Amino acid sequence: MRKIQMVDLQTQYNKIKNEIDAAINSVISSAHFINGESVKEFSDNLAQYLKVKHVIPCANGTDALQIALMSLNLKPSDEIICPDFTFISSAEVIGLLKLHPVLVDVDYNSFTSTLKNIESAITVKTKVIIPVHLFGQAAEMEAITELARKYNLYVIEDTAQALGSDYIFSDGSRKKLGTIGTIGCTSFFPSKNLGCYGDGGALFTDDDMLAERIKMITNHGSRQKYYHQIIGCNSRLDSLQAAILNVKLQYLNQYIESRQQAARYYSEHLKDTEGLIIPQENGYSTHTYHQYTLKVKDGKRDSLKEFLNSRDIPAMIYYPVPLHRQEAFKTIARAHTSLEISEQLSREVLSLPMHTELTQQQQDYIISAIKEFFKQ
Ligand SMILES: *Cc1c(COP(=O)(O)O)cnc(C)c1O
Repeated sequence: MRKIQMVDLQTQYNKIKNEIDAAINSVISSAHFINGESVKEFSDNLAQYLKVKHVIPCANGTDALQIALMSLNLKPSDEIICPDFTFISSAEVIGLLKLHPVLVDVDYNSFTSTLKNIESAITVKTKVIIPVHLFGQAAEMEAITELARKYNLYVIEDTAQALGSDYIFSDGSRKKLGTIGTIGCTSFFPSKNLGCYGDGGALFTDDDMLAERIKMITNHGSRQKYYHQIIGCNSRLDSLQAAILNVKLQYLNQYIESRQQAARYYSEHLKDTEGLIIPQENGYSTHTYHQYTLKVKDGKRDSLKEFLNSRDIPAMIYYPVPLHRQEAFKTIARAHTSLEISEQLSREVLSLPMHTELTQQQQDYIISAIKEFFKQ
């Protein structure tokens, strides 16, 4: 049995090696490393996949969030609502731009910020809501967009962990996550649902004016070389990464199915394990299982992790410290709600190996180790 990894990108690469190598070689021989044809091609292909009007690529997912905020003409005291239990990026860029992160608690089952918590955090200074579609499924976008309309707020979706997931509206219609709010952001970090071989990111919007502004910001605030209308930054997806993503985009649905299949297998075999809570599907979005995240009861999370590690099974804690407890946010972040659930999750969550190349033999080995731990 191949050594179990959290993410197995070598096996994934080996299966599409010829196509990837050809794509890389064609960029190298063209020597158009920046803004080459593959960048436009990939943006167009992803726009078509997501059914969104504009895809603007950039250097990474954190930049995408920063650029989204920069495009909205915000003022220094404006408040941005984001979840307390998530990766640092969303709150980090809010702080970087001297805006105020307002952290809200999340739902215990879906790991995403709830409508009730978001609404109770709204003040006259609130300008933006950032829902994070954590681990592969959506925050309550239908209700959140309604709320945003009512209070005249922008919505920036952090889709870094859920690219390819569908939102299912109450009338049965579907939209890809990242295409529902004002702007969607994603990351192509290698381990994400659609990962490149380095750093990459993108923004999505249906708004033509906003798309134009976002494009300018990624390009030094400029439409025409050496003429700068606004302050921007330098944030590009390079041609090599775009060429790789162009190949991998064709496999995205297949990759998602592999993740879902692996998740079903874990859930089927772990659902009756006393002391464990398996991931719950929320019913209003599909789940692409960027992570398969268990909750471990009775303070046994860390000992289960150690036990698995001793059997050569990696397992990771996403995330061990809620944002309001991060030293960097001590003075700038404000909480409008109790952050109890977020605290509780940081003590209970444990993510199992999850990727497109997991074999049944590997999963059986992981499952039996978990069962053995709980029998002790
Ligand atoms: C990965 C990730 C990001 C940041 O993406 P980078 O490309 O690493 O900058 C942002 N938000 C979430 C939720 C993520 O998982």
